[in-house]
Amino acid sequence: NNTDSAQYFTLLHTNDNHGRFWHNEHGEYGMAARKTLIDQLRADAKAQGHAVLLLSGGDINTGIPESDLQHAEPDFKGMSVIGYDAMAIGNHEFDNPLAVLDKQQKWSNFPFLSANIIDKTTGETRYQAYKIFEKNGLKIAVIGLTTTDTAKIGNPQYIGGLEFKDPTEVTAKLAPKIEKQYKPDITIAVTHMGHYVDANFGINAPGDVTMARNLPKGMLDIIVGGHSQEPVCMKEANVADESFMPGKACKPDQQNGTWIMQAHEWGKYVGKAEFKLENDELTLLNYSLIPVNLYIDDENGNKQLAAEYIEPNKNLQDMLAVYQKKGAAQIAGKIGNVDAKLEGDRNKVRYEQVNLARVIIAAQMQSVGADFGLISGGGIRDSIQVGDVSYKDILKVHPFKNRITYIDMTGQELYDYLQVVTSFPPDSGAYLQYYKLSFKRDNDTLSDVKIAGKPLDMTKTYRMSINSYNASGGDGYPTLTNKKGFVSTDDTDAQALKRFFEQNSPVKAADYTPKQF
Ligand code: ATP
Ligand code: ZN
Repeated sequence: NNTDSAQYFTLLHTNDNHGRFWHNEHGEYGMAARKTLIDQLRADAKAQGHAVLLLSGGDINTGIPESDLQHAEPDFKGMSVIGYDAMAIGNHEFDNPLAVLDKQQKWSNFPFLSANIIDKTTGETRYQAYKIFEKNGLKIAVIGLTTTDTAKIGNPQYIGGLEFKDPTEVTAKLAPKIEKQYKPDITIAVTHMGHYVDANFGINAPGDVTMARNLPKGMLDIIVGGHSQEPVCMKEANVADESFMPGKACKPDQQNGTWIMQAHEWGKYVGKAEFKLENDELTLLNYSLIPVNLYIDDENGNKQLAAEYIEPNKNLQDMLAVYQKKGAAQIAGKIGNVDAKLEGDRNKVRYEQVNLARVIIAAQMQSVGADFGLISGGGIRDSIQVGDVSYKDILKVHPFKNRITYIDMTGQELYDYLQVVTSFPPDSGAYLQYYKLSFKRDNDTLSDVKIAGKPLDMTKTYRMSINSYNASGGDGYPTLTNKKGFVSTDDTDAQALKRFFEQNSPVKAADYTPKQF
């Protein structure tokens, strides 16, 4: 584009909504206040002659029972009212069958984008790959991309027919095609891949930084991301700004000429980037993460708003209140109680044996009459606090609606299976939680396997309970669904745990304290 007068562009963004259509108990975040803020930002930008685009880095689904129970209908309809232009498809969009995501697309007036999800049967992209926007004389291409980790952490029951291609390779091919056909002024990738400082992606799939470094300079002007659920605020090149707090200044990342932005999670912030485009040169004029009614502690430890209060938009609030009420009614009320905390913290369940895992497995064993059971630690999503327990508490632990399955295996088959699943290291979602099972593991050798306290008999048959996620290969567990002796039930993990509390309360936490090895 060779206009010589400058053009202006405001990019607004959020990511990782995870069911937070409603504000929390303190009135923080929530879509109604988000709408007020975005309406204002959009009006201000337009008044200054800016083109405006509002993007989401995906993971709208999963996290809050009131939303999960309604397949995030309030979240997607709320986004439509707010006026999102496009969103990246996140891994949690595959927590439900594909038909649910198709339904969610129908509820929404903006496209769900992903250029690297391929339908294995057709070889074509399963979702819209990109969209070209013309706003205020600017042509803006937006390409969607999804983490390849979805293949690993997504639900294998639903994603078996999909291939998640390398986002960098896909973009390297697609962006030049788009360039040739449309000659966009600005090219943006809206991604759900994670921002890892200095490309240190660790055990995760490579994220936005790696992609920006590996693409030809200038191919992407901007990456708007999600998935790592952190504010992307940099102190200097490749060093995160650890001092960032709500209301403070935030400098996005820049890699190989590409700006990389991400706005933490849950709609806590709206990211706002103002650009000037002149002589083909895109300059970032301003950037901020604007808190949506977030509180911080002042010097005296008192809570105070991090920025000016944002009045929730009345119409959207009313619309969402109907869903909030309906969801809340489904999950309120006591179903049982427990005499001490059942540990489900993310920093525990992926590192050591916890009492909550044993309660969960006991419930699943009871459901299918198993001798023992297991679950990957990453599948436990919350703790249960001491005292009364509601269905809502259960659904926070088990948001995924996995079914309970079992398999009858000989001692030998079981030993071979345990060889694999006992090898998963701590600090991964795959880390094994088990009950009525014990073993020793020194490096590569598994020994002293006992089921319910008795040594494993290689010729005997044992019944193991496991959820449908792990049974179908989730977290890299060996696939059992195609094995002889495998049975899937209609009972779900949440139903089984709920029933367990109904039948066994008061649950005595001490009965489930993990024993040494
Ligand atoms: P994101 O970062 O996209 O929000 P996330 O928080 O789920 O994703 P992790 O915290 O790394 O990402 O969690 C991934 C782990 O969650 C997996 O390793 C697995 O143990 C568990 N998990 C994911 N999906 C399911 C599912 N459908 N059923 C059971 N467990 C699941
Ligand atoms: Zn994610």
